[in-house]
Amino acid sequence: MGVSPRFASVLDRIAAEIAAVPDRDRGRPADYIPALAEADPGRFGMAVAELDGTVYGVGDWRRPFSAQSITKVFTLALVLSRDGEALWERVGREPSGNPFNSLVQLEYENGIPRNPFINAGALVTTDRLQALTGGDASGALRDFLRAESGNPGLDFDEKVAASEAAHGDRNAALAHFMASYGNITNPVPELLEQYFRQCSLEASCADLALAAGFLARHGIRADGSTLLTRSQAKQINAVMLTCGTYDAAGDFAHRVGLPGKSGVGGGIIAVVPGHCTLCVWSPGLDRRGNSVAGVAALDRFTTLTGLSVF
Ligand code: GLN
Repeated sequence: MGVSPRFASVLDRIAAEIAAVPDRDRGRPADYIPALAEADPGRFGMAVAELDGTVYGVGDWRRPFSAQSITKVFTLALVLSRDGEALWERVGREPSGNPFNSLVQLEYENGIPRNPFINAGALVTTDRLQALTGGDASGALRDFLRAESGNPGLDFDEKVAASEAAHGDRNAALAHFMASYGNITNPVPELLEQYFRQCSLEASCADLALAAGFLARHGIRADGSTLLTRSQAKQINAVMLTCGTYDAAGDFAHRVGLPGKSGVGGGIIAVVPGHCTLCVWSPGLDRRGNSVAGVAALDRFTTLTGLSVF
């Protein structure tokens, strides 16, 4: 890891602005997964990774947090890299306009989830990765993240996975319902175990900004090998832009103007194709499940630097 001066003053300025925000205006940590409710909303970290793997940041940028739905991006990439277009028969690529754990569209859309970033769609993607990896989808995900971040210590938080499993009725309902349409191929209990493990992965802003680098490098991994075609990398960025922050994706595009993916642990990754990747973390969420300080920091970053896909 090197220290690049390129965005240093911008990051310092953003950190100072966020530090001035009172706790009451930072949202609240997710409490439907009890293990996440303990997080301190006062924490804030932000990292930028350049295409060559140089990474730098401010605040808690090296502190691990629960990656949660950010992992859905990596699972999707691993499935597309092995399976090509076939996944799109089982999951769509339209914004849902509904909360990330909603069930309502599934019945009248015959068990096909709107996109791979809501929980229903991620369950289908994980189901496919499970089949492609002989049953260890979460292990494949962890190995990929370790390789791309250069951090061999990345791992799951078993306490968070267990907490989520103990309160996982909605995800279980989604998986069973899709199985009734034939859109889940593995036994539902095994799929849920893999999904909860995947969500519980702990990583820092530095780890996740580095790991998402292939999306800024048009599909090229950290070691120079090809994970995705340029077109596939573009497709993932497009789905992140339109669906990565659920029913707030329009507002996120309006404010930030980058492909992004949030998680209820309070992290958000964002991609500036051809330039850099970002990850912010602050555990206080808005009512749609996106980090309040995280969105604000990305909003300030693109405003101050002029970097955007638009
Ligand atoms: N593990 C969480 C869940 O399934 C992920 C949700 C999220 O980060 N938006 O509810």
